[in-house]
Amino acid sequence: MGRISAEACGACVVLTWTGSGADRWANVPIRNGALPESVSGGVHQILLPRTVPLLRGAGGFVVEEHARSGSLEGAGLSRKDCMIRITRKIEFSAAHFYHNPNFSAEENRRVFGKCNNPHGHGHNYVLEVTIAGEPDPTTGMVLDLKELKDILQTEVMERMDHRHLNYEVPELAGQIPTCENIAAVIWKLLEPKIKSGRLDRVRLYESPELFVDVSAGNGARA
Ligand SMILES: [Zn+2]
Repeated sequence: MGRISAEACGACVVLTWTGSGADRWANVPIRNGALPESVSGGVHQILLPRTVPLLRGAGGFVVEEHARSGSLEGAGLSRKDCMIRITRKIEFSAAHFYHNPNFSAEENRRVFGKCNNPHGHGHNYVLEVTIAGEPDPTTGMVLDLKELKDILQTEVMERMDHRHLNYEVPELAGQIPTCENIAAVIWKLLEPKIKSGRLDRVRLYESPELFVDVSAGNGARA
């Protein structure tokens, strides 16, 4: 048998099942300042995934069920293992054009249109870098944002700001510098530098209307 532990956080109580099935837990809002009787009455099985709907039906309480890992974004969560995401945004300006040397001149014009102009054109890119993790109990921070700022300065700004991406960024050599490829290169540059928390998402805006997201599982292999 497992064990239930309850942890109050404002308007709700987080109940954790530490026996088998420990990968699931339920977040039960308190009504009238007390646990629902069906919970406090020792009905441990309510925390097993298959029996949560029974509580919902029996007690009329709203039960939010979450996977223990992955994104925990419910209101009022204060578990020490809940996931926090912090994001820092920077802007840089760079030039590029699209050209595939394996295409004929006509194909390049057809596929890439105006973006094939070999003289290039510029964008003001906006980069959002998101780090996920648990706040360090001694600092309250997932990652020192000053440290993240320094990493972005070294890895992104100094490499790409006011550069021609087709010629001046070795990491993009041999690639068409699309928003997708630039974002994937930024992921690969940043990922090994993040020592607290982990890199969760790189979002690169080429314009306010167009952005690309890279996250673990695709960017890491790009
Ligand atoms: Zn462009």
